[in-house]
This record gives sequence, structure tokens and C-alpha cells, in this order.
Amino acid sequence: MMHRDETPEGLMLEHGIKPTANRILILRSLLAAGRPLSMTEIEIGLESVDKSIISRTLSVFRKHRLLHALADGESVRYEVCHCAEEEEDSDRHVHFHCELCGRTFCIEDLPVPAVRYPAGFEVESVEYMAHGVCPECRGFRSGPGKPEGSVC
Ligand SMILES: [Zn+2]
Ligand SMILES: [Zn+2]
Repeated sequence: MMHRDETPEGLMLEHGIKPTANRILILRSLLAAGRPLSMTEIEIGLESVDKSIISRTLSVFRKHRLLHALADGESVRYEVCHCAEEEEDSDRHVHFHCELCGRTFCIEDLPVPAVRYPAGFEVESVEYMAHGVCPECRGFRSGPGKPEGSVC
């Protein structure tokens, strides 16, 4: 994975998005979370930003391929795309949805299995979403409030 300018401003400019104060706030909270956030989770973290602005900003980010959207069976979550190439989805990784606390984690270290599809099926995107119970909910605490499974 390539790490270039990962400041909110740098990422937006790279994706052809004009950085505004609200966009910076929203992108910063997604970067800081280190895991995919739902619309509601973003709202809770950004009380000063209007709901409609958040939803409009997320669709701008999506249109410019700055965010991945993923469904975990509970809600749609957004995470910052760290792909080096715009065309190539190089940062696919496994996600884990905790059925108890409802959070979704990025498991970046786990290699995504290479799957061969039958002839004639052209795959455009694949989501690897595991469901279960996260380390924190199972009682393995590595420190106050910091779940062990949150690795990205
Ligand atoms: Zn949990
Ligand atoms: Zn992720």
C-alpha cells in the first residue's frame, strides 16, 4: 500500500475535490476513526455540521472515488480509499462486523483470498465481510476502549 499525502487536503486535491472547511472536518473524522463509519457515526462525531451537508459531502467523495462504501448488513459504511491508482482497487481487505457493538473493523493484515469465478462472470467488486464478536466485546481488552482488532 502506498502512503503519499494523506492529509485531508492532500487526499481531496488528489481526487479532484475542492477542500472546504466542512469537507476537511468530515474527511478528518473518517481518517481518525481508522475504521469504516456509518452516516450516523459521522453525525455523532460532528455535531456542528448539518446532516444534509454530511450526506452531500459523502456523495461528492463517493463520486470522486475517495471513499469506499460497504454494507455490513446493518448500515452502509464509508472508508477512505487508499488505492494508488484510481482505476485499480488495490486496497481491498477483509472487514469484520461485530454483531454486539455494531462496529466494523478493517483487517488489513489478512490477505484477501484469490477466488476464481466461472467463465463468463466478470467481477467488478468483491466485499469480504466477516460477522462475529470483536475482541473487546469478548472481553479481551488491550487498554481502555481500544479494541485489539482495530488494526488499520
Ligand atoms: Zn464489538
Ligand atoms: Zn477497511
